[in-house]
Amino acid sequence: MTGHPENGPAVIGGGPAGLMAAEVLARAGHAVTVYDRMPSPSRKLLIAGRGGLNLTHSEALPEFLGRYHPPGGALAGAIERFPPEALRAWCTDLGQPTFVGSSGRVFPDSFKASPLLRAWLARLDGLGVTLRTRHRFVGWSETGAVRFETPEGRVEARPAALLLALGGASWPRLGSDGAWVPVLEGRGIPVTPLRASNVGFSVDWSPVFSERFAGQPLKRIALSVGDHRVRGEAMITAGGIEGGALYAASHAIRTALAHGPGIAITLDLRPDLPEGALALALGKTRPGESLANRLRKAAGLSPVAAGFLREAAGQALPGEAAALAALIKAAPLRLLAPRPIERAISSAGGVPFGQIDDGFMLSARPGTFVAGEMLDWDAPTGGYLLQGAFASGRAAGEGMRAWMARR
Ligand SMILES: Cc1cc2nc3c(=O)[nH]c(=O)nc-3n(C[C@H](O)[C@H](O)[C@H](O)COP(=O)(O)OP(=O)(O)OC[C@H]3O[C@@H](n4cnc5c(N)ncnc54)[C@H](O)[C@@H]3O)c2cc1C
Repeated sequence: MTGHPENGPAVIGGGPAGLMAAEVLARAGHAVTVYDRMPSPSRKLLIAGRGGLNLTHSEALPEFLGRYHPPGGALAGAIERFPPEALRAWCTDLGQPTFVGSSGRVFPDSFKASPLLRAWLARLDGLGVTLRTRHRFVGWSETGAVRFETPEGRVEARPAALLLALGGASWPRLGSDGAWVPVLEGRGIPVTPLRASNVGFSVDWSPVFSERFAGQPLKRIALSVGDHRVRGEAMITAGGIEGGALYAASHAIRTALAHGPGIAITLDLRPDLPEGALALALGKTRPGESLANRLRKAAGLSPVAAGFLREAAGQALPGEAAALAALIKAAPLRLLAPRPIERAISSAGGVPFGQIDDGFMLSARPGTFVAGEMLDWDAPTGGYLLQGAFASGRAAGEGMRAWMARR
């Protein structure tokens, strides 16, 4: 077993939360070491950038903060101290200006994560941050040393302060696999079980519908779960449905699913059109016109939306305009179960906020801090996940700095 000479603060997990904490500490003059189990850091950030890196959202802060579960607390405080504008300014400072896209979401001009990450890692290197990859955190020794497994064998370190920023458990092949849960539980720190969030749901489509429409989007819809209504898009998949509208409602859906097998939700396929106006348009069609034509021309439904409506009716569609309009405004859909956590964009659950103080330090382990997705919070897609990771990482870095200064 070998030991590292570093005795400055250590960050384990080189994702957005961990790297942000490392930057804060390095700027304050600390010799920081960042450890990651993967051959390179921030792999999830890179994948997040594949379809356009949605860094944050431009809506006003009160609405922005309202997207997080649980509301308020240490995470809200961290975001207030490092709000979306500050994150955008930080990106610009790294040579990656941002823009506000449709629906208010914020992206880097390059749309990608790789130029941002490259510039960030170069900055951290310039600030003297040491990066140790292929170091898998496995816990603590009897004497309190931090233990890693590496290709060269077991390694120990005794940092002045320690941040765990190990992420959640979605997409485990990118690095964060949730293996830290039993390690912390073994040290008496309770952890809320990690569950898939921002994930699709399985649906028992008819083979005909699935074959014809898998991979096609239902655009500009509204989804209702009980009283909860969200607008967005959904994508039909071979065995289910996924996409922004489902993710935005995933907290409500998961809560409802916890009470029984499968839940009924409804989709409004024309959320911009009141039911009365829709019925009027459908009623004006020429006698003898096919139903397919009426749905396309009068109701403005795409082929996939019309197919979904037939699937939802489960039988012949009503010919009468008012009944057809009512179905278009509230087409029923039964969701069976969330897709597995390996396919989720994020995970809910983690270290409860009751276990940390305002500086993100574990009350049960003074000197050990926690940030990012491994904390027990949840938010929809739209930039809220990365903003939460960046802001909590920054707050934890400040917490570590203050704690070390007090000692
Ligand atoms: C496909 C996809 C698309 C996404 N798109 C977006 C988006 O557009 N906008 C958005 O806001 N969010 C998006 N997210 C979510 C976002 O990427 C995460 O919420 C965010 O990366 C969490 O940051 P983190 O630093 O807490 O954890 P992570 O980014 O998961 O980083 C944790 C790090 O810890 C390391 N690690 C884990 N365990 C150990 C260990 N035992 N020892 C050492 N190192 C360890 C991992 O290798 C990893 O590098 C997306 C996620 C996915 C999967």
